[in-house]
Amino acid sequence: MLKIGCHLSTVKGYFHMAKEAKSIGGNTFQFFTRNPRGGKAKPLNIKDAEAMTVFAEANGFAKLLAHAPYTLNACSADARVRGFALQAFSEDLAALEYLPSGYYVFHPGSHVGQGAETGIKLIGEMLNKVLKKEQKTTVLLETMSGKGSEVGRNFAELRAIIDIVEMKEKIGVCFDTCHVFDGGYDLVNDLDGVLSLFDDEVGLDRIRAVHLNDSLNTLGSNKDRHAGIGKGSIGLEGMGRIINHEVLRNLPFYLETPNELEGYKEEIALLRSMYRE
Ligand code: FE
Ligand code: FE
Ligand code: ZN
Repeated sequence: MLKIGCHLSTVKGYFHMAKEAKSIGGNTFQFFTRNPRGGKAKPLNIKDAEAMTVFAEANGFAKLLAHAPYTLNACSADARVRGFALQAFSEDLAALEYLPSGYYVFHPGSHVGQGAETGIKLIGEMLNKVLKKEQKTTVLLETMSGKGSEVGRNFAELRAIIDIVEMKEKIGVCFDTCHVFDGGYDLVNDLDGVLSLFDDEVGLDRIRAVHLNDSLNTLGSNKDRHAGIGKGSIGLEGMGRIINHEVLRNLPFYLETPNELEGYKEEIALLRSMYRE
């Protein structure tokens, strides 16, 4: 069965999100750990987290994907910003211990003119400070589109970060199809080639989750604007090949398309109808 869900709002709590996910045909979901623009996390409601855990288990949910705030920049030139990244990251990881074991995805960061090499080093160093042997969560680096000074704009940069990480068993990759396409990898005409390149440079077993988004822009545009499934440059056929590809088909897929709940429900139904059981 296709493991699929979408990004949901955390405002009404975990149990609510899980019920919402199920109501739109999902069997997993993604959520922000706190306001995506930064700030303090609300204290975790343990009862709510427990109710969600029971519900997710009873309904055979795939692993949940928590998303770090966008403002988290482990390789900022500003020490205070790096300090926030370190603090938010460790707080989020601690809170996620109260949820079923899952994933925590983050944007590696923007080096803001310091150069990718410095960026990679700072990100790797932060990961070495926050990762704990006993944590249940696997941390995922997101593949980025390469806008501005984003680190993780190509597979080699992700590999370079992972090379620095000591606790390699706690680290994986979230493969964002819009970002990878905007980053210049042709998922439409050469999906096999892109995945085999990923295998050479990072290793396919690092991919733990897929952000399934179409792209409003062209191959290699380095833009990062998501389109609805089948409404962008990757197209519906391209999406069908992605969800059915033998390397990806058993991974959980998370939609981050421009939609309200009803639109997500339709996309999930569409993708399920295209999935070869
Ligand atoms: Fe993201
Ligand atoms: Fe994404
Ligand atoms: Zn994006």
